[in-house]
Amino acid sequence: MRPSSHHVTRCRRCHAAICWALTSANGRRQPVDAEPTAEGNLAVMQGADGVLYVRAVTVARPGIRPGEWQAMPHHATCSNPPPRRSARTPERSTVGVRPVPWQR
Ligand SMILES: [Zn+2]
Repeated sequence: MRPSSHHVTRCRRCHAAICWALTSANGRRQPVDAEPTAEGNLAVMQGADGVLYVRAVTVARPGIRPGEWQAMPHHATCSNPPPRRSARTPERSTVGVRPVPWQR
C-alpha cells in the first residue's frame, strides 16, 4: 500500500512529499513521509472515513497489516526542521484550575 495522491502534500519547510495523518494514540496530526520505506517505524492506513491514521510499529504490535504501509515520521527526515524550542516552559497540567478563595 501507499498513500493516495490526494493525501500527498508538500512540507512547508523542505517541500518534500508528505502526508498528514492522525496518531491512533492521541489523535494529533503528524506529518509522515509520503514515500513508504521499510526503515520507517510507523504504520499508516486510510480509515473508512478517508482520513489517514498512523500508529507506531512496536515490539508489541510489529509488522505491517494489509491496508497499511510503512512510513518514516517526517520529523526524522525533514531537511529544514523548525528550530527546537526546548527553552519554552512546559505545558502546565493545572491550566483552568484556579484556587478557590477561602470563605466561611
Ligand atoms: Zn520537511
